[in-house]
Amino acid sequence: MEDKLQELVVELLGDGAMEYFIGYRQGFEPSHVVPCFVTDKSEADRLIWGPLCLQNLSKYVLQARDLDGKVGLLVKGCDARAIVELVKQHQIERDKIVVVGVPCEGQVDPRKMEQVLGVSMEQVTDVEDAGDEFLVKVGGEVSKLGKEQVLRDKCFYCKHPTSFDYDYTLGEVQPFTIDSESEEYDAVEKLEELPLEERRAYWLKQFERCIRCNACREVCYGCYCKECIFDRTDPRWLDRTPLPRENEIYHLIRAVHLAGRCIDCGECERVCPVNIPLGRLYKKLQKDIAELFDYEAGMEYDTVPPLVDFELDDQDPFL
Ligand code: SF4
Ligand code: SF4
Ligand code: SF4
Repeated sequence: MEDKLQELVVELLGDGAMEYFIGYRQGFEPSHVVPCFVTDKSEADRLIWGPLCLQNLSKYVLQARDLDGKVGLLVKGCDARAIVELVKQHQIERDKIVVVGVPCEGQVDPRKMEQVLGVSMEQVTDVEDAGDEFLVKVGGEVSKLGKEQVLRDKCFYCKHPTSFDYDYTLGEVQPFTIDSESEEYDAVEKLEELPLEERRAYWLKQFERCIRCNACREVCYGCYCKECIFDRTDPRWLDRTPLPRENEIYHLIRAVHLAGRCIDCGECERVCPVNIPLGRLYKKLQKDIAELFDYEAGMEYDTVPPLVDFELDDQDPFL
């Protein structure tokens, strides 16, 4: 797969079909993968693909807005939905992007892997996808881990392992089986069963731990406003100090802004340094939007996210 990717990037850069390509490369240690920007075909051999290519790279295509040419991008099926939304939301033109779809068979959750193995990710020197399991190398020893033990939560219910819209694809997905009795919305439904006050108390307790580092905002494809409401000082909508009350407002505002636009990439939860279960919050939004509007973000170009659309006869008794 890597050879195929590197050959394609060499070809596309050589033909002038794009100005640069965004993919993944090895980071400062074997288990650490980082985004890679390839501007010259001689650098294409740095590109890699595997179960640790976690980042949703879609937000980087916004840089192409000011380019004369195109930018190429490697996308997993879940992340590709962000491209669809960015085009629909008029943030980028589709013909500015060369989409290279990669068949994805699940990504590792490093926190789960550390727990299962009892070692830090720094000690993991290789993770190989072997169908229904991962082969994980630690200090020369190879362990077999069932995917159900260490997959990212979103991968358990992966509905879109490849993009429906791509210019090139690196292959077909090989189906893998997950030995799990849980259902996609189990965690959300468990919270929904609680009385309103207990639900609120649950989230307030989570938000109390937030240090307002803004990582969840920075990583989210949907947070592309040139001036974010949280950064404004005149008027100042939110105090910079991470007090519980201010944190609650921060998370509620972000949640409302992402309702109908969240594509379930899981990046906000992945980057949170204090492990706030943001995925659960955004899963609740996806569930409500699906039930109320029969809408799933990122699946079509010709539908508008429900909360950025209106009909002249919409009811608005509160106005
Ligand atoms: S949700 Fe699907 S496409 Fe996305 S990382 Fe998981 S398996 Fe891959
Ligand atoms: S990443 Fe976590 S700690 Fe940082 S602002 Fe978001 S929720 Fe708060
Ligand atoms: S809110 Fe989180 S899961 Fe949803 S699109 Fe943004 S980063 Fe991805």
